[in-house]
Amino acid sequence: MSIKKIIINLIPFLIGIFLAWLLSWWGFWVIFPWIGGWISIGCFIAIYKKGKDKDLGRRISILMISPVFLIFLGIFQHENLQLEETVFYIAAGYITRVLIHYIIAKILGPFIWGRGFCGWACWTAAILEWLPIKENRAIPKKYTHIRYIVLVISILIPILFIQFGYDFFNNHIYGDSGNLFQHHKTHQLIWFLVGNGIYYATAIPLAFIFKKKRAFCKIACPVALIMKLQTRVALIKLKPTGNECIECGTCNKNCPMDVDVMFYIKNGKSITSTECILCDICRNVCPVNAIK
Ligand code: SF4
Ligand code: SF4
Ligand code: SF4
Repeated sequence: MSIKKIIINLIPFLIGIFLAWLLSWWGFWVIFPWIGGWISIGCFIAIYKKGKDKDLGRRISILMISPVFLIFLGIFQHENLQLEETVFYIAAGYITRVLIHYIIAKILGPFIWGRGFCGWACWTAAILEWLPIKENRAIPKKYTHIRYIVLVISILIPILFIQFGYDFFNNHIYGDSGNLFQHHKTHQLIWFLVGNGIYYATAIPLAFIFKKKRAFCKIACPVALIMKLQTRVALIKLKPTGNECIECGTCNKNCPMDVDVMFYIKNGKSITSTECILCDICRNVCPVNAIK
């Protein structure tokens, strides 16, 4: 393996170290190097695999990254990184670790890596990626609009709670425990467990019903929509190598997000679709290495 390749594959890990150094909380030294490190490991694993099997590296990465969100942040730190909680914090005007996650992974980060979070770090998709589903059927476009309704509901739920007197930070509805910090953290844990429970309980059946692992991403996930605008202009995009596309359609058939990859590549264009999650599957399966 060339030095250049080693350095390129180490970049995610180095970014993780940089972010941990930049943001002053000891926990970030657990979170960011772990996330970046596993992305680097996934890239190294892919080097030693061929064709479709290259995806094993990414699937290991996404699986290994998920405990940082679910166990370290969710269970131990009582931090809920879901959209509803983010709305609570924005409404209260607090800049917290929850908002830092949103800013890096889902608001500013996508200007660089598009929907790379979806492809490599999402804890919901971490489970979906390992479901025993071989098919990858396309989701009819009409279902993909449901996400917009879910987004509105996800924003309205915390706003309605606030309107009806629920104080996330003081919890008047449930009485005053005398320890607001602890009480606030308990509520974070409840929102975390219920929110993620609903996501998994929806996402797993959808995958089997539609015979597509990422059916939830296409149909129901509101988070996808928050990243779309930035993804359109993201720095990192897959593009044609210059090798002639033979229009075999293998890329389209395997794309987990139903992107018309062949259209972009055969026309010499970068993949600008806001559905692309940078999973690299199309690149891995292309028989003529037409995608880079
Ligand atoms: S669309 Fe939603 S569930 Fe799917 S990977 Fe992205 S954030 Fe996760
Ligand atoms: S276009 Fe390629 S990289 Fe993007 S989601 Fe589809 S298969 Fe993955
Ligand atoms: S897999 Fe490669 S050759 Fe086949 S259609 Fe896609 S880009 Fe073209």
